[in-house]
Amino acid sequence: MSVIDLRSDTVTQPTAGMLDAMANAATGDDVYGEDPTVNRLEAELANQLGFAEALFVPTGTMSNLLGLMAHCDRGDEYIVGQQAHTYKYEGGGAAVLGSIQPQPLEVQADGSLDLTQVAAAIKPDDFHFARTRLLALENTMQGKVLPLEYLARARRFTRENGLALHLDGARLYNAAVKLGVDAREITQHFDSVSVCLSKGLGAPIGSVLCGSVELIAKAQRLRKMVGGGMRQAGILAAAGLYALDNNIQRLGDDHANAEKLAEGLRAAGYEVEPVQTNMVYVQMGDKAEAIKAFAATRGIKLSAAGRLRMVTHMDVSRAQIEQVVATFADFSHN
Ligand SMILES: *Cc1c(COP(=O)(O)O)cnc(C)c1O
Repeated sequence: MSVIDLRSDTVTQPTAGMLDAMANAATGDDVYGEDPTVNRLEAELANQLGFAEALFVPTGTMSNLLGLMAHCDRGDEYIVGQQAHTYKYEGGGAAVLGSIQPQPLEVQADGSLDLTQVAAAIKPDDFHFARTRLLALENTMQGKVLPLEYLARARRFTRENGLALHLDGARLYNAAVKLGVDAREITQHFDSVSVCLSKGLGAPIGSVLCGSVELIAKAQRLRKMVGGGMRQAGILAAAGLYALDNNIQRLGDDHANAEKLAEGLRAAGYEVEPVQTNMVYVQMGDKAEAIKAFAATRGIKLSAAGRLRMVTHMDVSRAQIEQVVATFADFSHN
C-alpha cells in the first residue's frame, strides 16, 4: 500500500533527477565562500527576486531568525501575525536568541495584518517602550495569497513609519503561481525575503534569505554564530537549483489537486474552507483523532486537528486525491 501523506508539503522525497543533480554538484567550502553551487543558487535567487545578495541556510526557521536579527537589535520590536510562523512556530527564537520583542496581532481573514492595527501597535519613541523596527508578513499565509495591492500598501505604510518589511515567503512560489505573476512582483515590496526550497519545491533541505548587501553581511555573521555555516553544501544547493528549474510551475498541479480534494469533501458533506493554493482546511470538530486513525488504515497520513489541514504536494497524485475523498466519504457513513 503506497502511503499518501497530507500532513505537510515538507514530506516530499527527492526525485531521481534531483538526486542526480546533487551527486554531480561541484562543491567547495562554503564558509570560505568557495562552494560554486551555493554561490550559483544564491546569485540566481537574488537575481530572480530582485535583491543584491542572498544567503543559503539549512532551514526556514534559521532564515527568518537571521532576517529578524539582521533588522533588529536587542530591545527592538517586530510586529507579526499571532498565527505567523515567525511568531508562533519558531520556538520563540527571535526573543530567545535575538532579544527582539514580538508584538503579535490577529491575522485578518485574507491572511493580511490590518495596517490600522499595525499603526496603533507602533510604540512611541520613549524609553518605556521597545523600539518598533520591523513588520513581518507571511505569504502564503495558511494557504492564502496576500493581494499585490495590499503588499504595495504595506510597503508605503512601512516607509512612512520608518519600519523595515520582511516576508516569510516559505511558500512564495505558491503565491506567485496562483497569481500568475513573476515572484518578483511580490518580493519587490520587501526589504528581505525568506524562501523555502524544502516545501512544495521538493528539495530535501534548504532555505534562502534575500536582502541588501548590508543586511546579508549581517546575516552571514549571524549564520556562523548559530551554527549554520555549512561546508560542501553544494550538494544541497544543487537540489535547490534543480527545484527552481523544474518544480515551480508544477505547483499549479498541487493547487488543482487541493481544489479537487475540497470539492470532493464538500460533496461528501464536509465543511471545507475556500481553497487558494495547496492547503485544504476541513472542520472535523471532535472527530479529529477518529478520522486520523481511520485514514491510517487506508495508508493516508493526516494530522489530528479539529480544523484539519491537508497539504497537497508533488508526491500526491490526482488518483490519490480520489482515494482520500473516498476514504472521507466512507468515514462519514460509518
Ligand atoms: C515551514 C515554514 C517555515 C520554515 O520552516 P523550517 O521547517 O524551519 O524550514 C517558515 N515559515 C513558514 C510559513 C513555514 O511554513
